[in-house]
Amino acid sequence: MDKISIVIPCFNEENNIPLIYSAINKVFENGISAEYELIFVDDGSKDNTLKVLRDLSATDQKVKYISFSRNFGKEAALYAGIKNATGDFVAVMDADMQDPPELLCDMYKEIKTGEFDCIAARRVDREGEPKIRSFFARAFYKLINKVAEVQLVDGARDFRLMNKKYVDALLELSEYNRFSKGLFDWVGFKTKWIEYKNVERRSGKTKWSFWKLFKYSVNGIVAFSSLPLYICSLLGITMCAVSFLAILFIIFRQLFFGGSVAGWPSLVCIIVLIGGLLMLGIGILGFYLSKIYLEVKNRPIYISREEKL
Ligand code: UDP
Ligand code: MG
Repeated sequence: MDKISIVIPCFNEENNIPLIYSAINKVFENGISAEYELIFVDDGSKDNTLKVLRDLSATDQKVKYISFSRNFGKEAALYAGIKNATGDFVAVMDADMQDPPELLCDMYKEIKTGEFDCIAARRVDREGEPKIRSFFARAFYKLINKVAEVQLVDGARDFRLMNKKYVDALLELSEYNRFSKGLFDWVGFKTKWIEYKNVERRSGKTKWSFWKLFKYSVNGIVAFSSLPLYICSLLGITMCAVSFLAILFIIFRQLFFGGSVAGWPSLVCIIVLIGGLLMLGIGILGFYLSKIYLEVKNRPIYISREEKL
């Protein structure tokens, strides 16, 4: 019999864990004939998440958990869970019931056909989400798909069922700056998308503030695109060419028409403009450099404080 590992990252989800636990159990009782294990990853929660997990795993052998020494972020939690999964298939899903567990049934049926290596879910609407947030999310997907070497699907969630080959490929990418949405696409293989309508989180609030999402999207672009660096160089070259022409013009004017002291405001403008562009260039360069710095240090992606596997 096949075994399915279900990886669930949890950050302050004490109320949702019992819900998702029983929902998944129900799905397996009624529709999926496979063994399964649940791997909860407590991402440094401040509430009783760890206690809930300890209690659950004491009563149910199928429940396993890893608890981080601090909050390392969802990407690290996904990596830890996938790394410790022992199933023939590995599913990842959120703890807040936004990823309907019933879909696991369809996903399993699809992946068993052997046609696909990964079955992923995407929501077709963003109902219940603030309008401004949806707007920026859409803009981000348009931008990253233009500039990056990966193609992201709008509305794609980190809810998927993968086979062993796919998972092994994901684990090979052991980079510190993990942008899973990009990594999922980068490894290739055949992915089938299942669509569903958005569901709101059951309990608690989203962990993603606007600022956190902004940083996340910038990280995504930097991780999968060098276009910002090219734009900088291009701007630099253009500015140099323009100023070179301007200098030639001034020399000729001096020689043939005599000098003039007027024009210092335009000079100041140009200096400021060039200064600004330089700062922008250095800033973008620094951003990439800081990412390289983190990679080179080779820090672990996560540190576990307690685990039961
Ligand atoms: N999560 C996590 N670490 C974090 C933030 C979130 O493990 O630092 C988990 C969270 O517990 C949930 C999932 O990632 O299971 C998605 O988080 P959330 O529901 O807040 O995101 P949204 O659905 O609003 O995109
Ligand atoms: Mg959610």
